[in-house]
Amino acid sequence: MPTVIKNGTLITASDTFKADLLIDGEKIAVIGEGLETEGAQVIDATDRYVLPGGIDVHTHLQLPVGVTESSDDFYTGHKAAAFGGTTTHIDFAIPNKGEPLRKGIEAWHRKAADKAVIDYAYHANLVEWNDAIIDEIPSLLDEGVSSIKALMAYKGRLQIDDTGLFRTLQKARDCGILTMVHCENGDAIEVLIQQARDSRQLQPKYHARTRPAWLETEATLRSIALAATADTPLYVVHMTCAGSIDQLRYGRAHNLKVMGETCVQYLFFTEDDLARPDGAKWVCSPPVRTKSDNEALWRALQVGDLQAISTDHCPFLLDGTRPIEYEGVPYQKPGKELGRDDFSKMPNGLPGLGDRMIILWSEGVAKGQLTLNRFVEITATNPAKIFGMYPRKGALAIGADADLVIWDPNEKKVYGQALSKQRVDYNLYEGWEVTGWPEKVLRRGELLVDGEQWFGRAGSGTFIRRAPGMIL
Ligand SMILES: [Zn+2]
Repeated sequence: MPTVIKNGTLITASDTFKADLLIDGEKIAVIGEGLETEGAQVIDATDRYVLPGGIDVHTHLQLPVGVTESSDDFYTGHKAAAFGGTTTHIDFAIPNKGEPLRKGIEAWHRKAADKAVIDYAYHANLVEWNDAIIDEIPSLLDEGVSSIKALMAYKGRLQIDDTGLFRTLQKARDCGILTMVHCENGDAIEVLIQQARDSRQLQPKYHARTRPAWLETEATLRSIALAATADTPLYVVHMTCAGSIDQLRYGRAHNLKVMGETCVQYLFFTEDDLARPDGAKWVCSPPVRTKSDNEALWRALQVGDLQAISTDHCPFLLDGTRPIEYEGVPYQKPGKELGRDDFSKMPNGLPGLGDRMIILWSEGVAKGQLTLNRFVEITATNPAKIFGMYPRKGALAIGADADLVIWDPNEKKVYGQALSKQRVDYNLYEGWEVTGWPEKVLRRGELLVDGEQWFGRAGSGTFIRRAPGMIL
């Protein structure tokens, strides 16, 4: 039976208009006024906004890290995402050392297949480089993967040196694959971490002190310069500071094809949070920085210096010595307590996949920092365009997947762990009063969330094969 969403206000990246929307099967079939509803299921969206489902292009579900793994899998993470208004995400498929990139993709398909509820895709992720791996890059397109990430940090583990990064950029250019880069100077960071440990500076705040903003700023410019020289597009992940934004702006001012994202946590939190007794909650890389960096990121989102906002969702239990329950099932894995006595042993990462749209709407749209259209642009439309899913995803258009959020702009709630569906034992936004709420969420026409009710079925999410994307 077709579904008609009646009387809503549709929000796209460029327009705001009242219309009905008819869903036939998995697709948006008609958008228009006064649509016939006979024989259709009707969803009344009076006083509601209708937006494209959110797309989070930076997540790590069930990511192995040392003796543990990130605590959300492709079911729990997807449930949290859906309740937060996100209907598609892109995870990083990471091979073991010694394996081709394809093995990472196969491993991630095994994690996702039986569990997925929302739609998903992968970025390839380098963990080392050699001639064989560089030569493998074009074949990623056959796997439906059109982006690859290199990390300039995590020396001795994941760090790719400049030779490897430059050769990746050149190879990616030749086949239309987008290179993504984690910009931090891993060599200098390694020195600082060793010095902090030698002088017994082991609390979480030293996590930030040993990864200073200058080392992100420097690596950002270096990656931009390498991309410029290779004449290829670049996407800088999780930008945290004013200095990095300056470098991105500099590159864009020179007509380079460079783009960037920030993550929700970098808009709000600072080193002061790391210094709290529960500072472990905020340990992620790059680290949270200063108030003026928060403000620079907001500005960059508003004026278009940044093109997207993601989460780098990679949660770990704050206290992994105690089991939690999820849907009545106990869950326990080592977590942040691994670094209780030494920040350098703490798993890096924090939750956010379910929080992103709610917090950004409340702090951005409801408080007048972001227009409705800009919200849609940076949470859905640009991510779909950059990563080769547009207009199937990220659009309210005929023929697009019916991934929709019916958003109640007037609902007020006190946010936190009790409302978030993330499988973890804390929420960074605990006690925040939020305005606006994703009331109903549909993925390819199927109602996943209706208020408090959950209809999502494990295994119903689809892998989205991606083509080369657009340069924004
Ligand atoms: Zn990440």
